Amino acid sequence: TLFSELGLSAKVLAAVEATGYTEPTPIQEQAIPHALERRDVLGIAQTGTGKTASFVLPMLTLLEKGRARARMPRTLIIEPTRELAAQVEESFARYGKDQKLNVALLIGGMSFDEQDKKIDRGADVLIATPGRLLDHFERGKLLLTGVEVLVIDEADRMLDMGFIPDIERICKLLPFTRQTLFFSATMPPEITRLTEQFLQNPVRVEV
Ligand code: AMP
Repeated sequence: TLFSELGLSAKVLAAVEATGYTEPTPIQEQAIPHALERRDVLGIAQTGTGKTASFVLPMLTLLEKGRARARMPRTLIIEPTRELAAQVEESFARYGKDQKLNVALLIGGMSFDEQDKKIDRGADVLIATPGRLLDHFERGKLLLTGVEVLVIDEADRMLDMGFIPDIERICKLLPFTRQTLFFSATMPPEITRLTEQFLQNPVRVEV
């Protein structure tokens, strides 16, 4: 399979080509077409399999149409750690370099001011750790009712770190009609329960 057969936009394909990737990895090959069809995806994949691009590339394609409104992010990616959140931001910068997107990173240990400005400007992509996202929400600065796509990444690590109650709270603040892309390396019972609660008829992809 070639990247060009997955349904990605010309702009996104050009960015992938510029990176030097020749073919999609198995998780990319299996997840991207479903993500572009707006299906919910349950991806069981570890770091190193190319799972980041499996959600970043279809999101970039879907974001080409439309614009963000002030304080209402269009998409939300939840990561367990600051480091992973920063890596996802880099991925958006690399593959989205020809798209004028506002990407906001909401992680702890940094001032609220800069993050507030990015939210105010209208974020196409919000990448956050759970605690900092809820802090922003509680300060009344953030509206989550416009989120079209939610990504929960490394769910089993969120479980290990005690973030499941935060994830449940966040999911309940989002519109019911949205797309959810959910990734976990393993599927312990608590994670299966979470997918049953928050995914709708997902396509299961296991690599
Ligand atoms: P990830 O699993 O998302 O952390 O990605 C692992 C590494 O694989 C990253 O350094 C990516 O840049 C790289 N990568 C992702 N997709 C591809 C691909 N299709 N071909 C070659 N390398 C890739």
